[in-house]
Amino acid sequence: LVLCFSETLAKAEYLKYKDPKQPLNVRIKDLFGRMTLEEKIGQMVQIERANASMDVMRKYFIGSVLSGGGSVPSKNASAKTWVHMVNKIQEGALSTRLGIPMIYGIDAVHGHNNVYNATIFPHNIGLGATRDPQLVKRIGVATALEVRATGIPYAFAPCIAVCRDPRWGRCYESYGEDHKIVQAMTEIIPGLQGDLPSNIRKGVPYVAGKNNVAACAKHFVGDGGTTKGINENNTVIDGHGLFSIHMPAYYNSIIKGVATIMVSYSSVNGEKMHANKKLVTDFLKNTLHFKGFVISDWQGIDKITSPPHANYTYSILASVNAGVDMIMVPYNYTEFIDALTYLVKNNAIPISRIDDAVKRILRVKFVMGLFENPLADLSLVNEIGKQEHRELAREAVRKSLVLLKNGKLPNQPLLPLPKKAPKILVAGTHANDLGNQCGGWTIEWQGLTGNNLTSGTTVLTAIKDTVDPETEVVFDNNPNAEFLKTHQFSYAIVVVGEHPYAETNGDSLNLTIPEPGPETIKNVCGAVKCVVVVISGRPVVIQPYIDSIDALVAAWLPGTEGKGISDVLFGDYGFTGKLSQTWFKSVDQLPMNFGDAHYDPLFPLGFGLTTQPVKA
Ligand code: BGC
Repeated sequence: LVLCFSETLAKAEYLKYKDPKQPLNVRIKDLFGRMTLEEKIGQMVQIERANASMDVMRKYFIGSVLSGGGSVPSKNASAKTWVHMVNKIQEGALSTRLGIPMIYGIDAVHGHNNVYNATIFPHNIGLGATRDPQLVKRIGVATALEVRATGIPYAFAPCIAVCRDPRWGRCYESYGEDHKIVQAMTEIIPGLQGDLPSNIRKGVPYVAGKNNVAACAKHFVGDGGTTKGINENNTVIDGHGLFSIHMPAYYNSIIKGVATIMVSYSSVNGEKMHANKKLVTDFLKNTLHFKGFVISDWQGIDKITSPPHANYTYSILASVNAGVDMIMVPYNYTEFIDALTYLVKNNAIPISRIDDAVKRILRVKFVMGLFENPLADLSLVNEIGKQEHRELAREAVRKSLVLLKNGKLPNQPLLPLPKKAPKILVAGTHANDLGNQCGGWTIEWQGLTGNNLTSGTTVLTAIKDTVDPETEVVFDNNPNAEFLKTHQFSYAIVVVGEHPYAETNGDSLNLTIPEPGPETIKNVCGAVKCVVVVISGRPVVIQPYIDSIDALVAAWLPGTEGKGISDVLFGDYGFTGKLSQTWFKSVDQLPMNFGDAHYDPLFPLGFGLTTQPVKA
């Protein structure tokens, strides 16, 4: 009876932090005042979903959980399965003494790309080519809905890297080499988070509601400027370069209320960004007034030392003191918690630093309404891959295509192609491969090849659906000379390119199209009038074949909606895309960016021929 009575009392107690009518700062202060050191440190920890059992959530007061690249509850998991999984973890967090909700994050970097059946939008390099920030904003709105449909309120996007060297394996995650393009595309942030009301102070995080997600501008800063484009490497740059090229998109993101910012694995002038107090605390937080939280990258603090994890205590000290608020420690969280506790108890990290981190994390959680609505329902599950979103992705594909060459002779364009022709050839490793079309960060971290990864339309299917029913479409991956001789083709569409990759695996010093792509180009374009469509995460070596090609299209990594390509090839829409990366002649020229003294590209930044839609 006594127990019952005290329980009832506890339930009845008015807790200011739980009252949505209280002002934000009052709620933060009230909750914060109740927290023990253990509970505070727990808020700073983000672990991998597979480790987030009810017991772990409760015992360590874990503040955040993530799905790292390709970490899914089960193969082809439905939205419902995701919601149940996320809610279960949330119940663990809610059952702690103070019931602080955890925040679940995922890499939704071109749509909700870990989720089966989700709409996969073009990767950022293609979106940069659209030069259409409002389109990108609408993609943000759609992505937020699909992410929320799975019970997830936080996306590690957008990547606002300025890719200065296409040899970088993450170049496709960048909107372009020109900071102005990247700045304009930060419009995805109000898409993801909702439109910022005019009374919100600059730098304060903002997330509108249950159909929006907290965004994450990444990777702060200079990730796209490393030497030779080596991933996670060093960016050698003077202050002017850093602040005029790599920093501007962060100003825009902060002004637009971005909730979180992720620090980069890379270094600036030899100093690891995960330990860079000057840039993270003095500049980002103090000068730019960023009030959301700073998150580390995946095991990013481990990499402060070389080899990684060599002196973990030092790494924790350096990163937390530099101003990193939430630490992605997917696996070794107990080691992290013990070491951070030790550092705080021994005054190596001032408690004021912990307080700053925790207040920032709580602020984001309160702003998002996580305290009021911690558990997801199933009301949005039909948002996943819905037709309207696929139409939007198709529009984005259309606008992302860059026409680089159209006909061998002046005034004799090959495009748009006629829909009606006796017999046409579709060739190349990428013509009928959805995985190649989507690239890395699709279902798996490194991406997949083939057509079984998720639902969508390949270029081949799109072409077949677009041409006149009487047009015969012959498909061959890599037709040989004999085959080409035996047929009379009106024209050929050759679709070749890179295979999926992500991060360091994509670093390439030669940037060649993998075989048999070049062979297919050579054979087909030697025999029949050809359009070559390149599917790639960046400009690739094309100069040696350019004279044999009749028409050339850069299609980047378009995602699941291949119809966007046939829409434009056959003239239902015109070509409008403009290069967001300089197209080099030879890799020996790299790095080469617009404005460089040695600028001598095959196609300059901003290049893109246009065509007029054909009237029906
Ligand atoms: C990447 C980040 C990503 C994180 C979480 C890291 O390897 O650099 O961009 O958000 O993994 O999956």
